[in-house]
Amino acid sequence: MKILVIGGAGYIGSHVCLELMDAGHEVTVFDNLSSGKHENIFSGELFVKGDIMDEGALDSAMSKGFDGVVHLAAFKAAGESMLLPEKYARNNISGSINILNAMAKNKINKMVFSSSAAVYGEPEYLPVDEKHPVKPENFYGYTKLAIENLLEWYGKLKGIRYAALRYFNAAGYDINGRVKGLESNPANLLPVIMEAAAGLRAELSIFGNDYPTKDGTGIRDYVHVNDLAAAHVKAMEHLGRAEGSFVVNLGSEEGLSVMEMLESARRITGRDIAAKIDGRRPGDPARLIASSGLAASILGWKAIHSSPDSLIRSSWAVYRHLLK
Ligand code: UDP
Repeated sequence: MKILVIGGAGYIGSHVCLELMDAGHEVTVFDNLSSGKHENIFSGELFVKGDIMDEGALDSAMSKGFDGVVHLAAFKAAGESMLLPEKYARNNISGSINILNAMAKNKINKMVFSSSAAVYGEPEYLPVDEKHPVKPENFYGYTKLAIENLLEWYGKLKGIRYAALRYFNAAGYDINGRVKGLESNPANLLPVIMEAAAGLRAELSIFGNDYPTKDGTGIRDYVHVNDLAAAHVKAMEHLGRAEGSFVVNLGSEEGLSVMEMLESARRITGRDIAAKIDGRRPGDPARLIASSGLAASILGWKAIHSSPDSLIRSSWAVYRHLLK
């Protein structure tokens, strides 16, 4: 298939592009490189530097003709979204409307959309399946839900079929070491631990050790970015051969605490990673674990690279080059 990957130079997008090309698809990346990296544009891809706020640029890119769009272009810092909702509304929601309008105009009728477990908010039960009520606790999660709702309407009114993939905690780097462009100023747990291990930051702040969990720290479902990438390919191929649209969780179905991640990282890197206990981060649930049964039944997908060892080893393989 001929696929336009919007946000294809970013952390998850770059892995998705590799997986699409490995499966024999033709990839064009559309990215403004605001957080995506030039070194994540691989040979074999076409690249269009453009912004999703620029309707003309989207229209001109899509006029080349595509079988489908993978849409991963978004701001994703939950904390920042509460302080700067205008920035998130404009880029994430208006940008997605621009993409959908350009797709409708250019008769591209398939989208794989990068959604998030943030649409669920504080879990009412675990593991969280797709029937769980959606009540985002932060504006970032709200933008993802708003886009899912838009997709439903564009599905009905414009015939755009979609797969909305609700990621749990994406982590790790390409197990074959092909992705070199690291995220700038990461705020997520594993890259922060890696930066502390490499000496790029003094320490990890553990956000709360008084949660009702076995060691008091927050539990999350970490899913390897190669596993996420594989799901995008399966989702696009499914849209290519079957009718309908679908929304699925993508998680490993395993919970890992902040402390367990830190201890494993100390063991694997052999580095004495400094950490201090800090206060809870507002809006953080104690535990978040996915049920991914629907992705298994619709797509035949399961996380296979998402053990803590695989997450940390593949990350350290890139971060250790930055060792101070
Ligand atoms: N976390 C932490 N210190 C950090 C970053 C994250 O203790 O510097 C914790 C956070 O409170 C949560 C888990 O690590 O329990 C995962 O957080 P992350 O920001 O990676 O993802 P989120 O679950 O918020 O999407």
